[in-house]
Amino acid sequence: MNKASQDLQTFDSTFVVDEFKGSDRFTGVQFHFHTGSEHTVDGKRHDLEMHTVHLPKEVKGNIKYAAVGVFFSVNDHNAVLTPEQEKVIDRFFESLNWNVTTSNPAVAEVPYGELMMMVDTDNRWVYKGSVTTPPCDTIVYWNVLRTVYPIKEKYFNQFKEQMKRGKLEKTGNYRNTVPIDLHDVHIITTEMESSSNPWVIILLVGFILSLGLSIPLCVSNKSMQA
Ligand SMILES: [Zn+2]
Repeated sequence: MNKASQDLQTFDSTFVVDEFKGSDRFTGVQFHFHTGSEHTVDGKRHDLEMHTVHLPKEVKGNIKYAAVGVFFSVNDHNAVLTPEQEKVIDRFFESLNWNVTTSNPAVAEVPYGELMMMVDTDNRWVYKGSVTTPPCDTIVYWNVLRTVYPIKEKYFNQFKEQMKRGKLEKTGNYRNTVPIDLHDVHIITTEMESSSNPWVIILLVGFILSLGLSIPLCVSNKSMQA
């Protein structure tokens, strides 16, 4: 995955072209959050999962959307970050103004772009999945990053307050998961190699049950979003 634009998180993916015959370029149009996470890893539901919804340059291969999921956790993260990268995360959550309740807070593009340019999209799970409301069409190119990023407790608490205002504090806004064998999930690891061939997919394995990733179920609930 090549990240081509910082403001709207445009990206290119050869995988979706090769595997699903989809468009070669997607542009972000919306992002939102789930707590707990909608995907689980080895049965674990992380504190927060951010989804960015993307539209393809043109609909091909019946791929009408792409979605990128990023996990965040207060205490159980595994990202190795510099202090500056930690500040990128803080600036992003600070920009969301989750503590502001009197109006619809504007979201700055720059902290979002900084975050998405920083996160590791080269190590991720990919699969062709469904939208989350009936008829559950399988038209989404899902990308779930394998790294879990830290979120400061104060920002997570602000989101939980938002959930309380939406009367969702007990249930969360995630969907139950389905067994992974319903989908063909791939794991992608990309590493920098020689300058003549800078990006090489070194591991591309389809359908491994031991991946540990469980994916959200499409349900009839209008409050949920893809
Ligand atoms: Zn979502």
